Amino acid sequence: MNAASSTTAEEDLLASLFERLPYVLAINLATAVCSALAFSISAPTSMTLLWSGMMLASLVYRLKVWWDYKNASMLCAGDTRWTRRFTLAAGMNGGAWGLAAVLFYDPNSLVAQTFLPFVLAGMSGGSLVGLSGSKPAFFAFYISIAAPYALRLIWEADQAHILMAVAVLIYMVGMGWLGRSFNGYLQQSVRLAGENECLLAALRQRTVELQDKSSQLEVTFEHVNQGVAVFDQDHRLITCNRRHRDLCDNATDVFLPGMETSGPSELKGDRPRLLDAADEGAATLPNRSRNRRFDWIGTKGRFLQIEDNPMPNGGFVRTSTDVTDRKRHEAHVLHMAQHDSLTGLPNRMLFHDRLDQALRVAERKRGRVAVLLLDLDRFKTINDTLGHDAGDQLLKQTAARLRTCIRGSDTLARLGGDEFVIIQTELGKKEDAEILAERIQDAFKKTFDLGGQNVHVGTSIGIAMAEAGQGAVTSAGELLRHADLALYQAKLNSRGTHCFFEEGMNVRIQRRKVLEHDLRTALVEDQLELHYQPQLDLRTGQMTGVEALLRWRHPERGLIPPADFIPLAEESDLIVGIGEWVLTEACMQAAAWPSLTMAVNLSPIQFMRSNLVKTVEKALAHSHLPAERLELEITESVWLADCDKAMTTLNHLRALGVRVALDDFGTGYASISYLLRFPFDKIKIDRSFIQGLDRMSEANAVVHALIGLGRSIGMRASAEGVETPAQIEHLRREGCEEVQGFYYGGPVLAPRIGAMLTNSPAHFVN
Ligand code: C2E
Ligand code: MG
Ligand code: MG
Repeated sequence: MNAASSTTAEEDLLASLFERLPYVLAINLATAVCSALAFSISAPTSMTLLWSGMMLASLVYRLKVWWDYKNASMLCAGDTRWTRRFTLAAGMNGGAWGLAAVLFYDPNSLVAQTFLPFVLAGMSGGSLVGLSGSKPAFFAFYISIAAPYALRLIWEADQAHILMAVAVLIYMVGMGWLGRSFNGYLQQSVRLAGENECLLAALRQRTVELQDKSSQLEVTFEHVNQGVAVFDQDHRLITCNRRHRDLCDNATDVFLPGMETSGPSELKGDRPRLLDAADEGAATLPNRSRNRRFDWIGTKGRFLQIEDNPMPNGGFVRTSTDVTDRKRHEAHVLHMAQHDSLTGLPNRMLFHDRLDQALRVAERKRGRVAVLLLDLDRFKTINDTLGHDAGDQLLKQTAARLRTCIRGSDTLARLGGDEFVIIQTELGKKEDAEILAERIQDAFKKTFDLGGQNVHVGTSIGIAMAEAGQGAVTSAGELLRHADLALYQAKLNSRGTHCFFEEGMNVRIQRRKVLEHDLRTALVEDQLELHYQPQLDLRTGQMTGVEALLRWRHPERGLIPPADFIPLAEESDLIVGIGEWVLTEACMQAAAWPSLTMAVNLSPIQFMRSNLVKTVEKALAHSHLPAERLELEITESVWLADCDKAMTTLNHLRALGVRVALDDFGTGYASISYLLRFPFDKIKIDRSFIQGLDRMSEANAVVHALIGLGRSIGMRASAEGVETPAQIEHLRREGCEEVQGFYYGGPVLAPRIGAMLTNSPAHFVN
C-alpha cells in the first residue's frame, strides 16, 4: 500500500469524522448538561459554572473547527492542518471532561462515585467508536479524560484509590490498543472501500465498453455480407446471422438455435449439390481439427463458397459467401472467350478443344471422327451488294439451319467469316459423313430471307476423317487442315458440292496455292503481257483485226499460257483486276494501229463480279479508241450464272457501240436460243471443228451448219485454229468470212504486228 493511498484513507476517515461531528457534539452537549446538573447537587455552583463554561468553550471550538472544515474552499491531499485542528479540538473537549474528574471527584459524594466514572467511561468508550478514525484525536481525547481522572484517584493516596487508578491506567492501555486496532480496521476498510469503488468504476466502464463493443459486433454480425453460423460440438446451431438465413432461403424456423445439422444439408435448396466434385468430404461433417472449404450450388442457382472453421470446443463456425455474381461473370467471360458473339456458336478455340477431346475418345473407343468444313458460296458478294446487316443475317440463319442438320453429340462451330465446321462423332461408317454433307446441302436448297430479299446461297463442304488405329491424323489441327484442303478441292470441282480429303490432295493444292500467291504479285510486278493473233478477211486476205491473248511471264517458270492460270484467277476473283488491265492495255495498243479491230476475251466472272460496262467505258475513254474497233469475245458460259444480268450487261455494252463475238461456239452448252436472244456481230467456230475438217464428216457437217446458221441470222462466221491450206479451201467453199490460225500466224508481241502493218499492207496470200 503506498503512502499516497494511506494518506487518502486517513483523509477519508477524517472527512467521515467531520461529517458525524455535529451529532457527537450534540451528544457531548446533552451529556455535559446532565453532568453539570448532577455535579451541582454536591459541588459549589461557581465550580459547576466554571466547568460548564470550559466545556461549552471546548464544544464551541470543535464546532468552529467543523464549520471551517465544511466551508473550506478546497481540500488538498496531504494537508495535515485539519488533522491537527481536529485533534486539538478533541483534546480540549476531552480535557474539559478530564477537568470534571479533577473538580468534581469526591470520595464522599455518591454522584462523584457513581455518575462521574460512568460519564467518563462512557465518553472515553464512545470515543473508541466516535474518534478512532483519527488516531491523534482519539488519543488526545481519551488521554485528556483518563489521565486527570487517574491522577485525581492517586491524589487520594489510599490503597483503594491507587488500585482504581491502576485499573484506569490498564483501561487506558486497553483503550489505546483497541483504538489503534479500530483505526487500523477503519483505515483498511476505507482503503478497501476506495479500491472497491475504483474497481466498481473500472467494472462499470468496462461493462459500458463491452456493451458498446457487443452492440457493434451484433450490428456487424447481422449486417455483414457473409453468412455466419455457429454450431456446437453436436452440430447444433447456436446462432446465425440474417445473411446466413437469406443464403439458406430464409428458413427462419429451421435456423433457430438448437437446430441440428448433418453437414451442409442445412443449406436448403431445390437440389443443392456440390460444385467442386473433387471435394467429396464436403458432404460429410466437418473435421474437428482443420478448416475445409467447398463450393455449393444453393437455391435459385446461387453459388455459395462455404468455409467451416473448427473451434477449440469441438463446434465450428460456418461462413457462407455468395459468389453467384462472380461465378456468373466468370462463366460469361468464359462463354465470350469460347463462343462467337454473332451466332452464339463455339468459336475456333472451343472447336479445337472439342476436336481434341473427340479424337481422344475415338482413339479410346476405337471409333471415328469426321470434320466437315463449310463455307458459303457468294458470301462476299452478298456482303458487298446487300450490306453487312444482310451478311450477318445470313450467317445467323446459316447457323440455325446447320443446327437442325446435326445430332446432339456433334459440335457445330464458326471459325470466322463464312466458315463453319462440324465435328461429327459416333460415326458408324464413312458414308455417315457423306449423308450429313448431303443433308446440309439439301438444307441450303431453300432460299434465305435477308431483309425481305430471297437469296439462294449454296455451300461447299470439305470432309476429313480420323479413324482410330489408322494413324494418319495426329492432331486436331491436322484434321482441320485436311478438311480445308478437301474444301478447296470441292470448290475447284464445282461450287455447292462436297469432297473428301485424299492423300496427294495436299501437294496438288499446295502447288496451286503457290501459283495463286504468285499470280497476285504478277499484276503488280508487271509480269503479264499481251500477244496478238491476226484475224483475216478470207475473201481479201486482208488482216482486219487481232485477238489479244494473255500470257504470264513467270520469273521462274517462264511463259505460262492462259489455260494454266485464267481458271485460277477466276476462282480467286483476281480475274477482275487482270481483265481490267487486259482491256486497258489492248485498247491502248489498238489505238496505235489504224483500222484494226481489237478482240478481247472476257471471263464470265467479269460479268458477274465487276462493273464491266464501266471498265469498258473507261478503257475506251483512256485510249480514245473508237468503240466499234473493240470486239469483246464471250463464251456461252456467261449465261450460266445469272442469265438476266448477263443480258443486261451485253445490251449496255452494245449500247456503247462495241462489237460482241461469241467465242468457241459449238463446244459448250451451245444453245441456239442464245443466238436468237442477242444479236452477236460474230460467231467464232471452235478450232476443234476446224481441225476435224476433212478428217471427220461430223465436223464438216457442224461447220457447214454453223456457217449457214450465222449467215441466215446475219452474223459473221469466223473460223479459229486454221492450220492448213486444205482447211482454208474448205472454209472458203463453205463461204466462211473470217479466219484465224497458225497458218496465218500465231499470237505475237505487238511490235511484230506493227511490223506486219508497215512492211506489207497486212495482206496475207491465201
Ligand atoms: P480463245 O479465245 O479461243 O483463243 C484462241 C486460242 O487458240 C489461243 O490460245 C490461240 O493461241 C490458239 N490458237 C490460235 N490459232 C491456233 C491454231 O492454228 N492451232 C492451235 N492449236 N491453236 C491455235 P491461247 O492463247 O492459249 O488462249 C487460250 C484461251 O485462253 C483463249 O481461247 C481464251 O479463251 C483464253 N484467254 C486468252 N487470253 C485471255 C484473256 O485476256 N482473258 C480471258 N478471259 N481469257 C483469255
Ligand atoms: Mg477468243
Ligand atoms: Mg476461241
